[in-house]
Amino acid sequence: MLAEITAALGAIKTGSDIAREMAAAHSLDETRGKAPELYGAMAEIQHRLAAMQLAYAALLEERDGLAREVEEIRQARMERERYVLHQLPQGGLVYRFKASRESGAVPHDLCVHCYEGGVKSILQPNGSHLVCPTCKTKLRSKGSAAVASRRGGVCVWTL
Ligand SMILES: [Zn+2]
Repeated sequence: MLAEITAALGAIKTGSDIAREMAAAHSLDETRGKAPELYGAMAEIQHRLAAMQLAYAALLEERDGLAREVEEIRQARMERERYVLHQLPQGGLVYRFKASRESGAVPHDLCVHCYEGGVKSILQPNGSHLVCPTCKTKLRSKGSAAVASRRGGVCVWTL
């Protein structure tokens, strides 16, 4: 964008210099002789301004994309803050949902491996184990782990 602005300012300076020379001309023929140069300078200014407009539109698009990305990251961080690293009595680590009355969510645990990779994968009960439906990690739970959500599922956190 800065290059386009610099080029446009240069084209405007050239056009201004030509117009100044035309104003200082000593005859009508001399003035008319400069007209093609002035038209050329005006065309260059128009070209440079169009390039600036395109560069500006690209910057706006990039800015909007970054704003969306920041919002997604913010949402993902808020979602991640709803979990705390927890050690099961049998030694396995999970990310446990911080249950609150307001959330209304079913208590559940997430797979640590998937969590660190940006994937929210809810551990599912399977006998005396909790199993990750994504990476198939198996943790001994012996019934003392949080009740895993039966709704289960996997969603990507986009991180
Ligand atoms: Zn997993």
